[in-house]
Amino acid sequence: RSFSTNFSNFKPASPFNTADLKNFRTAPLYINGEFVESKTEQWIPVYNPATCELVTLVPEPTLQELRDAVDNSAETFKTWRKTTVLARQRILLELQQLIRRDMDKIAKSITEEQGKTFSDAKGDVYRGLQVVEQACNITNLLMGEQLTVSTDMDTYTIREPLGVTAGICPFNFPAMIPLWMFPLSIAAGNTMIIKPSEKDPGATIILAELAKEAGVPPGVLNIVHGSINTVDFLCDDELIKAISFVGSDKAGKYIYKRGTENGKRVQANLGAKNHGVIMPDANKNHTLNQLAGAAFGAAGQRCMALSTVIFVGETNEWLPELVERAKHLKISGGMEPDTDLGPLISRDAKERVKWLIQSGVEEGAKLVLDGSNPTVPEKYKKGNFVGPTILANVKPHMVCYKEEIFGPVLICLSVDSLDDAIELINNNPYGNGTAIFTNNGSNARYFVTNVEVGQIGVNVPIPVPLPMFSFTGNKGSIQGDLNFYGKSGLQFYTQIKTVTSLWRQEDVDHTKSAVTMPTMR
Ligand code: NAD
Repeated sequence: RSFSTNFSNFKPASPFNTADLKNFRTAPLYINGEFVESKTEQWIPVYNPATCELVTLVPEPTLQELRDAVDNSAETFKTWRKTTVLARQRILLELQQLIRRDMDKIAKSITEEQGKTFSDAKGDVYRGLQVVEQACNITNLLMGEQLTVSTDMDTYTIREPLGVTAGICPFNFPAMIPLWMFPLSIAAGNTMIIKPSEKDPGATIILAELAKEAGVPPGVLNIVHGSINTVDFLCDDELIKAISFVGSDKAGKYIYKRGTENGKRVQANLGAKNHGVIMPDANKNHTLNQLAGAAFGAAGQRCMALSTVIFVGETNEWLPELVERAKHLKISGGMEPDTDLGPLISRDAKERVKWLIQSGVEEGAKLVLDGSNPTVPEKYKKGNFVGPTILANVKPHMVCYKEEIFGPVLICLSVDSLDDAIELINNNPYGNGTAIFTNNGSNARYFVTNVEVGQIGVNVPIPVPLPMFSFTGNKGSIQGDLNFYGKSGLQFYTQIKTVTSLWRQEDVDHTKSAVTMPTMR
């Protein structure tokens, strides 16, 4: 029985029909600057994960609606690409200001649909906002190179947009991930179609409202919804030149293959299994606090969650203190004050996580903290809550080690040396993030040099780089060769023209045809 987030677990749209619509909020499409209700007959329900009450219906758009969205993006590109970089920069500056203004509103929508705590939801928006701030620097980012390569001969580069780009987003960062995508893409002169996760589209819709208010012209940013049909449409349509994807392995690999086979650029950030290595010389208090936060924060539903701890040597003995810290985290609805962790996204996710905990026990791991049936306030009794859970004595062959759990479950392994820890991490197929806790600079340096992981923290548990850098997962955590945001993100959304010109021709020999390869010496 495999529970990996994959196609077989993907639920088709529920059979809501149009008669139900008057009772529920529906997620509008955003096409050509207008928020419009889909004419579809197929609607996907979004439940508040803390209460399991239905909050929104998300359309599976009709083929015509998808066609309209892409055609409109392609038509708009013809004019948008001609706007000056200064005009685009000014719109981005306005957008960052509006996101700041409405941060609470976006965060509230995230808590309602995704479940994370309100303060964590604000962090979700803030980390996306930082990418918008970086995109405001588009005037510098787009600058090309120039060299006088020979007498009177100059070569220079021009960075140009690609055309229509598309973004396919996961549920776990409903604001941050769309903001990894569209601000940079449109600042570079592309148009973009975002498909938010069908599990929590609300934040993207608010961001589209803000983009409109900021002066992003109609058609520059379009929003479509849905699941597999929409994804297939975006992967196949020839007007779309590039796809940014963030989500699970199976969906990402599928989209990468289908998109690249259709000649598109695809960047795909996938799943993870992030290890935290604890050295005996680490600062115990700092390490245990950071570890508990990074394992259980957002109910473990972060691709950079530190879900696996490797105790080196005698640090094994720190386990009881870690359990103590985890025990005291407060589990409740995300809007309740002082909540440390909210619910999981769905009932299926909760069942899957509980099954993985059970599988660990059956394979010989020791359940030192069991959050399978946590106590929550009465009004959240129907919510998808799992409390902090710790499995000790985990071995690499166990399913709970091999699978990305994506829940508030910390699994613990023990090794004798730093080399053993590095070997364990390097043998893991994923390579998104890792952290070492130590006060020994030499060990830290050794770890950084030898570990095969894209993002490394030294006494920093969730080392997600700020957007002047890029998000640099590696191994099985990424497909494609250009990363999200930073210089690499800009490269993804642009292509380069290189111009070589000779304006003064007085010194050229005009008597013969130049048939040999020009060497410009
Ligand atoms: P998901 O793959 O289920 O969904 C992501 C998107 O893909 C959604 O828009 C969904 O509609 C679409 N999709 C899902 N199944 C599909 C299929 N069979 N065919 C075509 N499209 C499909 O991912 P999720 O559950 O929303 O997000 C959680 C996953 O995302 C975790 O694995 C997490 O590690 C990963 N993630 C990775 C990063 C990163 O940067 N590496 C960041 C955030 C999340």
